[in-house]
Amino acid sequence: MSDFLPRNIRNLIEEFTKLPGIGPKTAERLTFHLLRSDQRKSRDLGDSLIKLRDGIIHCQSCFNFSTENPCEICSNSYREKDLICVVEEPLDIVAIEKTHSFKGVYHVLHGALSPIDGIGLNDLRIEELFNRVRKNDPIIKEIILATNLGLEGEATAQYIYNQLKNSDIQITRIAKGLPVGSNLEYADDVSLKNSILGRKDFI
Ligand SMILES: [Zn+2]
Repeated sequence: MSDFLPRNIRNLIEEFTKLPGIGPKTAERLTFHLLRSDQRKSRDLGDSLIKLRDGIIHCQSCFNFSTENPCEICSNSYREKDLICVVEEPLDIVAIEKTHSFKGVYHVLHGALSPIDGIGLNDLRIEELFNRVRKNDPIIKEIILATNLGLEGEATAQYIYNQLKNSDIQITRIAKGLPVGSNLEYADDVSLKNSILGRKDFI
């Protein structure tokens, strides 16, 4: 990085580059954008960053980020509690909610099984899903496995299916219409909606 730049500027560029999807050029652009803007913009950004995690917890039912336990979706009486959609990340819920095609509740695994990256069962909220199934209160009719369609997502869906296949619950998998390997969060609304509505029994 350019050593002639003041340290504060270099620091912010460096922090931006640590974020996913932001390369050095974008980091520089963002930093200089803030430098040129009204100082209030930087203050508001700093303020939001400092407060980002304040009061944020995991809902103890679905493990989505929330300020309440249970979260807004789990406590909503209009949602179908017998239908659980299992996703890898909280962002997947944001993507699915935008499609307005799902009225059940969720379960967030917080990742997918990936031996190569050292991510195993204990790093995910899989056991918590099995606890929900064991508890079966409210009664669960269907579990939609909406993990991503890449290798890790498929392996995770297969593992969950193997553990639950002898239960009375219908286990389904989202349809393959989405680009293979791509994350749900990047899918367009129509494809994602079709993928959920076109789900099939897991085999
Ligand atoms: Zn919840």
